[in-house]
Amino acid sequence: MQRFDKAAQLLNLDEGIYRILRHPEKQIITHIPVAMDNGEVEVFTGYRVLYNTSRGPAKGGIRFDLGVTLDEVTALAAWMTWKCAVVDIPFGGAKGGVICDPFRMSQGELERMTRRYTASIIDILGPESDVPAPDVNTNEQVMAWIMDTYSMHKRHTVTAVVTGKPISMGGSLGRREATGRGVTIVVKEALRELGLPLNGTKLAVQGFGNVGSIAAKLLEDEGLTVVAISDKSGGVYNPNGIYVSEALEWIKKNRFLEGFPNGDRITNEELLEIECDVLAPCALENVITRKNAGNIKARIIAEGANGPTTAYADAILDDKGVFVIPDILANAGGVTVSYFEWVQNREGYYWREDVVIERLREVMIRAFDMVLAYSKEHGVNMRTAAYMVSIDRVAAVHRLRGIYA
Ligand code: NAD
Repeated sequence: MQRFDKAAQLLNLDEGIYRILRHPEKQIITHIPVAMDNGEVEVFTGYRVLYNTSRGPAKGGIRFDLGVTLDEVTALAAWMTWKCAVVDIPFGGAKGGVICDPFRMSQGELERMTRRYTASIIDILGPESDVPAPDVNTNEQVMAWIMDTYSMHKRHTVTAVVTGKPISMGGSLGRREATGRGVTIVVKEALRELGLPLNGTKLAVQGFGNVGSIAAKLLEDEGLTVVAISDKSGGVYNPNGIYVSEALEWIKKNRFLEGFPNGDRITNEELLEIECDVLAPCALENVITRKNAGNIKARIIAEGANGPTTAYADAILDDKGVFVIPDILANAGGVTVSYFEWVQNREGYYWREDVVIERLREVMIRAFDMVLAYSKEHGVNMRTAAYMVSIDRVAAVHRLRGIYA
């Protein structure tokens, strides 16, 4: 909200719209009884928050985690609102979560919990009103259960009620790679803007999961040299370059990067301060802080993860002239292809992968250019510019629609 406030102030946002945008539209709290395998009944608490739906159906993931709170779900729902608006897809923002430990539940228990949660929020779900997706500890299977439960209530199959589905039941080609691909597209644009070449430019990536490993692979294909990668088990550094395909092979066999032979071992903290041109934090939130921001060598930071940089670190990075591509822009490739999935479901016609990739490229480049233009026009960094673009878009719709009653 600190960043929202700053952008709202710079935009001179009218007081009434500021008040509207500072509040979630709707927060649902539900208690979900589940018959556990041992014969007992457990009750889980779940939330669904619709932050803003002025631009279209609410969009946002559902997470299953012990750390879920209503405040966190609300903050993440606000974030989704700005993310959808910055890439200009016709969705609002939402998020959901259930407080549970999915690693200690059987598949049957997870399925029953998912179906009952879906049934209890079914009045707000729907292709026209609220479209969930996977998030922390939820996956294609969970989306399939939600889609099935919703379809049983509607008495016909409704694929467009969730995204992130298996391809065989209406998922989109290119969805799995979409976030990493989006990161790749905006990094290339940033390099162009700063007059840096692709060939030989040094890249360090924190987090070697879905987002990080795909961004690393695609940027390597573009000519960048991947000098450092890391995961939960630590990192590897090789100034001459790490072959991403070798690291992927290693992960396939060994699960973690630990022991990967082609480089020196480094910690995740060291990776952030390594000699490189582009740094892509693609793992966790709050890793770039006021403690280490001053030591970062990269010219460009591409935030694949959500919230990797604290607000305090922003100012330090600004002083150093680091070009930060903020999360709501850099990792919006995922929600963009989720939007494509929803469009394909509704038209009942499925696109070739190259069509998905080309349309993603168009959306990401248009958004990058718009944010860059705002940043130059208002003399602000890319993060503030991204918030300004999105708040401007949401506010414009509120002004046009007016207030009902
Ligand atoms: P993932 O689970 O596939 O990968 C996470 C990676 O981070 C793994 O390599 C893991 O080992 C590593 N990691 C975990 N704890 C770590 C630690 N303490 N230090 C260093 N590395 C650690 O997850 P993902 O889908 O790649 O998501 C990564 C980030 O990107 C998250 O912040 C997520 O919210 C964000 N994001 C993902 C998508 C998407 O489509 N997958 C979209 C938008 C944003």
